[in-house]
Amino acid sequence: MNTPRRAVELLVSVAAEVRLDLSGFPAPPAWTSDALCAETDPEAFFPEKGGSTREGVAMCHRCTVAAECLDYAIANNERFGIWGGLTERNRRSIRLASKEPAA
Ligand code: SF4
Repeated sequence: MNTPRRAVELLVSVAAEVRLDLSGFPAPPAWTSDALCAETDPEAFFPEKGGSTREGVAMCHRCTVAAECLDYAIANNERFGIWGGLTERNRRSIRLASKEPAA
């Protein structure tokens, strides 16, 4: 797993190696070029099960595109990793709460 920007970079580099044509795929969202996580250890955003999320979440709180990142993660039902400062568990809670009928 990787951070959003690094995931795109990895896909592009692998595609180039295997000469895969990505021209039919959409360009990565513009906000990924400002992703603070691209400058750091991707492991902080995808910790091992039971590992600390503190470092990744703290970095997201300093990131200028956190809102866009979180919107993207929710819209695309990203189930793994830290996106926009929220953990997998945080986003799952949001998903479940949005499905609950209003009282
Ligand atoms: S909010 Fe966090 S995961 Fe999203 S782009 Fe910024 S640093 Fe990366």
